[in-house]
Parts: sequence; C-alpha cells; structure tokens
Amino acid sequence: MEKRRIAILGSTGSIGRQTLDVIREHRDLFEVELLTCNSSFMTLAAQAREFDANNVVICDETRYKALYDALEGTDSKVFAGMKSVCDLVTSDRVDIVVASMVGFSGLAPTIAALKAGKVIALANKETLVAAGSIVMELSRKFNAPILPVDSEHSAIFQCLMASQGNKVSKIHLTASGGPFRTWTKEQIAAATKDMALKHPNWSMGAKITIDSATMMNKGFEVIEARWLFDTPVEKINVVVHPESVIHSMVEFEDGAVIAQMASPDMREPIQFALGFPERLPLSNKKLNFAELGTLSFFEPDLDKFPALGLAFKAMERGGNIPCVLNAANESAVAAYLRDEIPFYGISDIAAECMERAAFIATPSVEDIFATNSSARALADSLILEMKKKS
Ligand code: MG
Repeated sequence: MEKRRIAILGSTGSIGRQTLDVIREHRDLFEVELLTCNSSFMTLAAQAREFDANNVVICDETRYKALYDALEGTDSKVFAGMKSVCDLVTSDRVDIVVASMVGFSGLAPTIAALKAGKVIALANKETLVAAGSIVMELSRKFNAPILPVDSEHSAIFQCLMASQGNKVSKIHLTASGGPFRTWTKEQIAAATKDMALKHPNWSMGAKITIDSATMMNKGFEVIEARWLFDTPVEKINVVVHPESVIHSMVEFEDGAVIAQMASPDMREPIQFALGFPERLPLSNKKLNFAELGTLSFFEPDLDKFPALGLAFKAMERGGNIPCVLNAANESAVAAYLRDEIPFYGISDIAAECMERAAFIATPSVEDIFATNSSARALADSLILEMKKKS
C-alpha cells in the first residue's frame, strides 16, 4: 500500500482520537496532513506535535492565538474557522478525509471534500441524514467514494463483499439497545443525563451516546444505510443485539445471511476504511466465542423508543424532513445535556418540529442549510416552552 495522507475533521473527538490510534500503529502507511477541531486547542496541539501534522485548523476563531502559541517552533501551519477547513480538505496533499465532526456542522466540509474528489471515510452520519440524496449525488458526480466508518455500515459494507453481484434481499442492522433497553417506560422518562451517558458497550462522545439511549442513533443509521447502500427502507430491519458482537448482517434471496463480527471497538471499522481494501493488523481484543457463550436478539420496542419510529417516518415523508429531524434532535439533545428538558422531551420536540416544518420535496443544498436553521430555531422555542412548564 502506498503511503496515504489523511485529513481528520474533528480529530479531538472520540472517532478522531481512535483514528490517530490506528495511525499510531501504522506510521509507515499513513501521514497526517490535516487535523481540525472545534475548540480543544491543547489536545489539537499535542496531536499535531505527535503526528507532525502539516496543517491544523481550530474552528473556534477565538482560540487561534492559543493554538498558534502552543505550536510555536513546529512546522505545523495554523488556521482558524470553518472556511479554512473547507479549503484545506481540497488540497492535493490529502488522499482520505475522515469526516468525524459531530452533527450538521460536518456537512459543509464533507461537501467540499466530495467536490474535490477525495475518498471520504464517513463517521458523521448526520451528513447523510440531513442531505443524503445530495451527498450521494456529489459522490457519484465527482467520483469521490464514501467508505463507512460507522460500525454497522462498515459491517454491511464488509458483508456486501460476499455478494458477487447477487441481489440483497434484506439488511439486518443491529442495535445494542443502549443503557435503557431493559428499563420500563416510567424509569426511562425519569432518566438523568448521567444514566443516559452510561453506554453498556461503546465508549463514544456525549451526543451520540444520548442518541443511542433514545435509539435516535439507530434511526439515523437506517437512513444512513438507505443512502450508502441504495436500499429502500422497507428492506432494512433493525434487530436489538445487546452484546454488540455482530455489527450487522446482509441477507440474500436464498436465505443465506452473512454477518460481520468483531469486538465492539471503533478502531476496527476505522482501519477498514483507512486501509481499504487491505485489512491492517490491529491490537484490538479478538473474539473468544466460547467465552461469549450466547448471542441474543430482540425486536426493538418502538413504544419505549419513539425516536426510532420518527426516523422511519421522516424517511417515508422524504425531502427535507430527515434534515428537520436531525436539526431538532441536535437542539433537543443539547438541551437535555443542559438538564433543561426530560428524556422523552427529545423525541417530543423532534416529532413536533417534523409536524410543523415547511415541506420541500427536492431540497437544494441551500434549502438544507435553511431547513437546518429554521428547524433549530423552532426546536429552541419548544425547548423554552418546555422549560417554563417544568
Ligand atoms: Mg453505529
């Protein structure tokens, strides 16, 4: 494999740090061209020093000076602001863009990278939830492949390698069920953020951990799979699998099911995207089946986890509605993390925003950005009302 030059958007987040863990194990195969983060300048500076990054960007422009000072005496060039991120991802010196920013903010730089024909290692599922048809169209038009980093989608991608051109009849998307899988609805309703932030299997950032607790994350992953694998939603089946060993499965017309398994560790799907089509040796925990004993599977409970149903409904309605769902969810999760709304407030606000949003059947990029802003504003006003009532 020829040395690949990597840009990591959101390098101080959970996926960004684990991407650097993979690169640390394979310094001969990868070079770090660009690191970006929102505001954690100390971590960013330490990463830039360790990996000798050519360029670093801090999105929060007020931290520029601090980052610049922290990188004094290094060869790293320091930039600030989202526009710099969008410019630098298009550089000839970048081969793979790891899109691991959180939420809708990942859309603009991903679009820039797609237009420059870069290979995208996509961890930022919100990009596909908000603008799936646009993103996939750009990927085709500019010959910019999207390799999934989300563990379930990496699994599906790996399973599809067994298809040999045969038709897929079903995708089985596995879900851990999150920390509240066995709780009653009343218990869940009273859940504090500390309870919601305790994921049984995966260690992740706060936003996605709350999305896992509501199962909005799984709903988003259904939408993500619909776009990545050009599969109608009706063919995507969510199955709860608390052990998180099978990361997803693909079923063919003869009833054969191919599953991808590995210990729940994001470094596995990350290395698969970075090294594709090569598999790189990795110091992760290997599966011991006798130790595992049993694997279990359940139907998802849409009554306890209404967010999952909302995602299906958003896809059914199509157009800009998934973007509305994503925007409302981002605002509501942030409010939940500030202890301003109860747990089910998240899905209630998302549902109401979907009801009240102006529908656009075939949104342009501009429509998507406008929808994101207006849905956030609506969600914020609903959050304020909810806060007053409590
Ligand atoms: Mg996932």
